[in-house]
Amino acid sequence: MKAEIISVGTELLLGTTINSDAADVALLLSEYGINVYWQTVVGDNPGRVMEAVRRAKGRADIIITTGGLGPTCDDLTKNAIAEAFSLPLVLNAEEERHLRELWRERHYTSLEITPNNLQQVMLPEGSEPLRNDWGTAPGCVLRAEGVMVIMLPGPPREIRPMLEHRVRPILASLSDGVIASHTIHFFGIGESEMEYKLRGYMNSLTNPTLAPYAKNAECLVRVTASAPGPDEAEAMMAPVIERVRGLFGDLAYGMDTPGLAEFTTKLMLEKGVTLATAESCTGGELAKSVTDVPGASAALKGGVVVYTNEAKARLLGVPAGLIEEKGAVSYEVAVELARRVRELMGSDFGVGITGLAGPDGDGVHEVGTVFVSLADKDRVWVREKQLARRGRAQVRLYACQHAFDMLRRRIQGLDMEAAADI
Ligand code: ATP
Ligand code: MG
Repeated sequence: MKAEIISVGTELLLGTTINSDAADVALLLSEYGINVYWQTVVGDNPGRVMEAVRRAKGRADIIITTGGLGPTCDDLTKNAIAEAFSLPLVLNAEEERHLRELWRERHYTSLEITPNNLQQVMLPEGSEPLRNDWGTAPGCVLRAEGVMVIMLPGPPREIRPMLEHRVRPILASLSDGVIASHTIHFFGIGESEMEYKLRGYMNSLTNPTLAPYAKNAECLVRVTASAPGPDEAEAMMAPVIERVRGLFGDLAYGMDTPGLAEFTTKLMLEKGVTLATAESCTGGELAKSVTDVPGASAALKGGVVVYTNEAKARLLGVPAGLIEEKGAVSYEVAVELARRVRELMGSDFGVGITGLAGPDGDGVHEVGTVFVSLADKDRVWVREKQLARRGRAQVRLYACQHAFDMLRRRIQGLDMEAAADI
């Protein structure tokens, strides 16, 4: 089955809005093994939208459109689709009733709904509406000329739940079986190295399949199986997951998790251990990532941003002489940050991060030099990283990832250095 995504919106052509809707649609289609062969972006122009739909219906089995379902005069996707299929637009009575109710609820007045709002419930003849509980314009599905066209609203906060609750059931009903997948997460290995190590095994598989990719300073491998039912899919994936994990040992830290920060925070909560942070170049990003997880107060006792030498000395008592002698970005200062913040807060672990995120250096150290330290009651571990190639935001992200990796390794009793090279 071939799919085409048509995203309608002049803002997408201008580059002022990133086409995240197309990415969301494509990800969902891939879960059902439906290949997206084309993605088209077209401005709010009736003739060109119709032309795009005409071309798509000649080559794809499923067309999903995003945007242009609203009440304003540039919202013309349904008109263009109706025209491309030579169908009239007809008012959907059920959706009209719903829209009028919404109108009354929102405006608390007897003010009559404006005619342009009713444009939203005009659907190409023969379409089934897809109720939009997250906005006002319904989506719809048209099955005509052997093609299925699914029309969805543009705002991401509307299309995401629409994809999950309205489109997913349609896609699920198209295939006889299920497509299931798991994602294995790695920290401590680059994408190309991982792909190289996996290639032989990956190419020998047809079902399940393996797909490696990189995201947010980690590597991921998605295992996808197509099977008659969910249990069969799980049984097919289990040995493949075991083999992949076996290839990389403890560089694989988890499965189906948003990332190392959340994974490690949950691990701390599970084990009932606590953390305190002393951050310089990451400016609080580490503490922020921990607090992104609900319930994090049971894990994070507190943190300080000790951005200047003065802050390091005044807030944590790092000796000014030491900073002067060794430099703020040094092994020795990193040790002091982790040790002192742990003692100050009485936590199980202390993490220190000090480095030069760039673009300017301090005249002594190379830009991108970062020291990440972890202290428990008995000892302190330090990683020195040179992350200059990666740019300021990535230097910070990698510094935090290393801190989480060290914490995870310490909590799980693993080799502290295995992932230090990334
Ligand atoms: P509305 O009822 O809000 O008008 P709509 O379905 O008509 O919704 P559009 O008018 O095309 O959608 O877009 C509304 C807003 O949604 C745009 O200003 C833009 O911010 C966002 N948007 C539209 N298309 C996309 C897209 N493909 N990716 C990300 N955001 C988008
Ligand atoms: Mg609109």
